[in-house]
Amino acid sequence: MDSIGYIGLGIMGGGMARNLVAKGFDLVVWNRTPEKMAPLVEAGAAAASSPADLAGRCDVILICVSDTADVEEVVLGEQGVIHGLRPGTVVVDHSTISPKATLALASEVAERGGIWLDAPVSGGSEGAERGTLAIMIGGDPDAVAAVRPILEAYGTSINHVGPTGSGQQTKLVNQILVVINGYAVSEALIFAKAAGLDLDRVVEAVAGGAAGSWMLSHRGPQMIERDWRPGFTIDLQQKDLRLALETADELGVPAVGTGYVFQLYRSLQAKGLGGEGNHALVKALEALSGIEL
Ligand code: NAP
Repeated sequence: MDSIGYIGLGIMGGGMARNLVAKGFDLVVWNRTPEKMAPLVEAGAAAASSPADLAGRCDVILICVSDTADVEEVVLGEQGVIHGLRPGTVVVDHSTISPKATLALASEVAERGGIWLDAPVSGGSEGAERGTLAIMIGGDPDAVAAVRPILEAYGTSINHVGPTGSGQQTKLVNQILVVINGYAVSEALIFAKAAGLDLDRVVEAVAGGAAGSWMLSHRGPQMIERDWRPGFTIDLQQKDLRLALETADELGVPAVGTGYVFQLYRSLQAKGLGGEGNHALVKALEALSGIEL
């Protein structure tokens, strides 16, 4: 069986790595903050001393770190993957990063005989933990087929969408849908509150019809209960909207709704709320309306 390496054991990477170990894969892990490797090592994984060390021991390398510069650091940095990469290794990037920078990373890896797949995920911390993520992949179809059994350890919807970069572009499509849907849920609940309706009953009444959505059913009740714990933080959400707006600019396409939600999230970051869950978007509308859910 291939030896698999996992770089980045945060909320998402940690959950995916735990699923791999639980399903019997031979796993090597590396995390910048070494303490986060301990539970995985206890569960049976081996710890690497750097991304380069991990690359020298693995045939498939999975990455899930925060932003574009962080992927560049773990791949191209002084101790980066590139310095240990073996020819034929498939590098799968599960982080959400710039589609443009992805092309440059893929070509650096290809120059050393590796294959890059951009494979961002959706489904939140719950999806990573339960192994039910949606994975959208750009890159070589044969490489996608080769790693599919590994991705099935934590993904239930695995789609090859096109060439390198198209996985990241698809994830930005996903994020546009997520935030505008989150905005719709927020505005609808403020309206319901203003009308004096029972919010729990309203959600139940509309969730099964054409207005139903994952965002309404999962985050609507959290908004009503004022539970702002993050599945996905406002700061990370803003990072994705920045990428969506940059890419829309490169494409020359208007993204009015995305820009609007970006500014509302900015108002929450300015209040120090960037660490709260992205459903705290409703707080921006509470501030505009003077109505609290
Ligand atoms: P997280 O919990 O904050 O974890 C971030 C991970 O990246 C940590 O392991 C961190 O290491 C590592 N890291 C960050 N910068 C680094 C650098 N310069 N060098 C080395 N390691 C670095 O974030 P997350 O929620 O797992 O998100 C990770 C990625 O998945 C992001 O691109 C995010 O947009 C995407 N994503 C998240 C969700 C979600 O619901 N959370 C859903 C879909 C996609 P340390 O432990 O040392 O800090």
